[in-house]
Amino acid sequence: MTKLNLIGGQWTAGTSAKANTNPSDISDVIGEFADADQTLVDQAVAAARDGQTAWQAMGIQARCDVLDRVGNTILARKDELGELLAREEGKILPEATGEVVRAGQIFKFFAGEVLRQSGELTDSVRPGIEVSVTRHAVGVVALITPWNFPIAIPAWKIAPALAWGNAVILKPAELVPGSAHALAEILVEAGLPDGAFNLVMGPGSVIGQALSDHAGVDSISFTGSVGTGQKVAQAALASGKKFQLEMGGKNPLVVLDDANLDLAVECAANGAFYSTGQRCTASSRLVVTDGIHDAFVEALAERTRTLRVGPALAPDSQVGPVIDRAQLEKNLSYIEIAKAEGASLAAGGNTVACETEGFFLQPALFCETDNAMRINQEEVFGPVASVIRVKDFEDALSIANDTGFGLSSGIMTGSLKYATEFRRRAEAGMVMVNAPTAGVDYHVPFGGMKGSSYGPREQGALAREFYSTVRTGYVNWAA
Ligand code: ADP
Repeated sequence: MTKLNLIGGQWTAGTSAKANTNPSDISDVIGEFADADQTLVDQAVAAARDGQTAWQAMGIQARCDVLDRVGNTILARKDELGELLAREEGKILPEATGEVVRAGQIFKFFAGEVLRQSGELTDSVRPGIEVSVTRHAVGVVALITPWNFPIAIPAWKIAPALAWGNAVILKPAELVPGSAHALAEILVEAGLPDGAFNLVMGPGSVIGQALSDHAGVDSISFTGSVGTGQKVAQAALASGKKFQLEMGGKNPLVVLDDANLDLAVECAANGAFYSTGQRCTASSRLVVTDGIHDAFVEALAERTRTLRVGPALAPDSQVGPVIDRAQLEKNLSYIEIAKAEGASLAAGGNTVACETEGFFLQPALFCETDNAMRINQEEVFGPVASVIRVKDFEDALSIANDTGFGLSSGIMTGSLKYATEFRRRAEAGMVMVNAPTAGVDYHVPFGGMKGSSYGPREQGALAREFYSTVRTGYVNWAA
């Protein structure tokens, strides 16, 4: 049975539907999912307007309770949702289940945030007048999400949006509607009023663009590629809405001579290749000083060659498939570009045959690369990493910062001086010491500098900066 859009509390068919296939086994169809169209987007916006009023009127205890129920349900159903996620996205089952747990925890965190209301009451500079500063819902919020975290990214946008009393319209990525649809069912069951949460599925160029252009949407939060982010920004500006963008990364992991070699190799393999390298925080540039360079490359190449690539649900798989054929071809073309630029392939980079037909790629490690190469400047978004040899800390820091992105940045060192200096001078929104560049907490801000992000941070208490607006009130009490 086709899974439908959710508009104003009604499950609604579209004009067409698409099959959702498993990248570990292309003969496995997870389901058919309805596409929305412009008319349904208009209906969703109108329904959200009414839903927002109803949701806001329920008050903060009811909002807290609903979000808490959503979190509890996700956690109780983690195994089943994790399997669905692994099937549609391709990350291995432990990673997929971990992502589901994170989504549950996010809802529970924002359930608590609903009650942590605060404001200011102060004197005016004019005698006899009192001033209040309070936070309020923005209104109707559209959320556009990518395929690499099919439940966690929707969760970290939906939960704060609802916590602050907004209504939501979610447009999930075309490749992973299953987790978003399951989340929509959980939200409905938890007791949201009709229209407070709406799901519109379908192609980004149509549905995502329609939401970005829509005058009835008050603000839009987007995670995806730089090019699409620019389109969303232009449309948001033209239609006068607030916007927030999370885009790519080209995250460096610096390895200094005094690093613990085993830990450095583990953090590099994890950061570069886990989740099939399909994380915006992936360590795609490994910036390594001369003294440890050769030992590091040798050990990481061995680790890369022996990573077991296989179906997401197979218990011995360590790296799942790439999301789809187009992304696999993109990865392979970057591998050819790197070779043509003179990089040397130290390990992997070949497709892998498994029992089922899927998009399996042995992670690729390049060495002898230069930071100016395309492989080090453009985001591949796959299990491809390159080593850049540098002479010392200053050289490493300047190469690490020499990128248009600024999401995450890491350093492996035993030196307090260099660790501290790196944390202070790295041009990135998230800085890691002796830890992978990927893998972050849910209760603190997430986001980057430079071309990686635009607007206020996501997640943690700071999420309120985007999902609420401030009202300043004046009372002439002496009147
Ligand atoms: P990727 O290349 O990783 O799929 P995209 O940036 O294209 O990244 O996709 C991220 C999200 O943006 C998806 O939900 C996609 O459907 C949506 N999208 C694609 N094109 C547009 C557009 N023109 N306007 C708004 N959203 C879009």
